[in-house]
Amino acid sequence: MHENIHEIDADRFESVVLKAPLAVVDFYSDECPPCEALAPKFEALAGLYGKDVAFVKIFRQKNRSLAESLGVRGSPTVLFFKDGERVGPMLSGGIRRSALQAELDAMVGASRAQQIRSSESKTETVCDLLVVGAGPAGLTAALYAAQAKKSVIVVDSALAGGAMGATHQIANYPGFAKPVPGWQLAENFREQAAHAGVQWRLASEITRLDLGERLAVVDRLETIRAKKLVLAMGTTPRAIGVPGEKELLGKGISTCATCDAKYMVGKDVIVVGGGDAALEESQLIAQFADSVTIVHRRDEFRAKPQHVEAAKANPKISFVLDTKPTGFWKNGDMLDVELESVKTGEKTRRTVGGVFLFVGMLPNLDLAKDKLELDEDGTVKVDEWRRTSIPHVYAVGDLVKKPVKQVTMAVADGTVAGIDAARTIDHEAVMGDEPPCEICPPALQELGCVQI
Ligand SMILES: Cc1cc2nc3c(=O)[nH]c(=O)nc-3n(C[C@H](O)[C@H](O)[C@H](O)COP(=O)(O)OP(=O)(O)OC[C@H]3O[C@@H](n4cnc5c(N)ncnc54)[C@H](O)[C@@H]3O)c2cc1C
Repeated sequence: MHENIHEIDADRFESVVLKAPLAVVDFYSDECPPCEALAPKFEALAGLYGKDVAFVKIFRQKNRSLAESLGVRGSPTVLFFKDGERVGPMLSGGIRRSALQAELDAMVGASRAQQIRSSESKTETVCDLLVVGAGPAGLTAALYAAQAKKSVIVVDSALAGGAMGATHQIANYPGFAKPVPGWQLAENFREQAAHAGVQWRLASEITRLDLGERLAVVDRLETIRAKKLVLAMGTTPRAIGVPGEKELLGKGISTCATCDAKYMVGKDVIVVGGGDAALEESQLIAQFADSVTIVHRRDEFRAKPQHVEAAKANPKISFVLDTKPTGFWKNGDMLDVELESVKTGEKTRRTVGGVFLFVGMLPNLDLAKDKLELDEDGTVKVDEWRRTSIPHVYAVGDLVKKPVKQVTMAVADGTVAGIDAARTIDHEAVMGDEPPCEICPPALQELGCVQI
């Protein structure tokens, strides 16, 4: 632990924290992955700001009543104090260096902050495989490469787990007799990869990504160079951008029928969208729900005609066309949905048991989009080994076109890319840029060509 960090118990809180002109306190726990993600950032910032701000760590489990008296309910939680008073936000969960540093800058003042920042040193790290995105696809690629004895670093802007980690329960991942909480499955994936030797940069921002050079700058200061790069950033459901949508996502509003249709038994459901996903997924939802109303803002569908015909033939499915939702509200166990006719502007309300939004998924390619060859739907074009159009760069999971987006599919992509990355690293270590062994001359194979 850095010499500028004081590890204390509740009895020294007043003297060390409240009496200090400036203090930052990290309430942590053991066996806590987000605490592990925070620890190196807290250390690095203690080295920079430790002369101005008292850096304090308190073990939460042992100091519960102090933590609770300060409103600390989980680990890690970071609090800031000035002259004995709480200032700034309470940070918790996947805490980024930038969030911590912004608060420390505000505490020490602009000119001192500038002075401190000018003393920050840059570092460079080299590894075999750099994985961007710690969802199931990225974690699986990392696992396979690390088990093949490659040095692997995984960077994620959040904590490990991706969409899988944020899912309430996953009932269809093979190997678990009962539904498993998404966070638990995510933690199993992370632990297994960590056991294989994977290094982490979690809750960390990539401030520059150069696919051609295979380098990423993480949190402004660390440049990571890799022989191979796996892109595994997943997708974000396109939002329709109306009141209540964000707040009720996962609490009545869903973007995944495979995951949530089974909870719709006996309910009336609204599906929003007019593409293949909306029309196809309505069939699945209708197997559980009493009724499914497809709300679409046009009077014709983008979906394939066979999906439209099949939906029209289903007695449980009906249509409200030229109409868009304009707001969602919780109404007990139900949801109130406001609908607006795009032709007349007339507004109506419906109360339903659930809402599914299928208005498209956006691949998270802000960092990389312009340089990669894309499929017509905006996903990354790959070959059977999940290699992209850029040499030594792979794309996996939901970033890649597939018939269904599921954890099993993401894991399959990660498997293929992780194995190929590891064995091509071995091959290239011996053969440089010589072609694969199957086509390289026997004389070269005798020199130690690694079969790929
Ligand atoms: C609500 C919901 C419920 C679901 N339920 C199920 C289910 O029950 N069963 C099932 O099999 N599938 C389910 N799915 C689908 C499944 O979760 C996804 O198919 C799967 O997680 C895709 O894995 P991935 O690794 O490609 O991407 P993701 O899981 O999306 O992971 C991508 C990771 O990349 C990170 N990232 C994004 N941008 C950046 C960046 N710029 N820098 C660094 N990191 C970045 C993200 O933080 C994230 O951790 C569900 C999906 C949703 C949305």
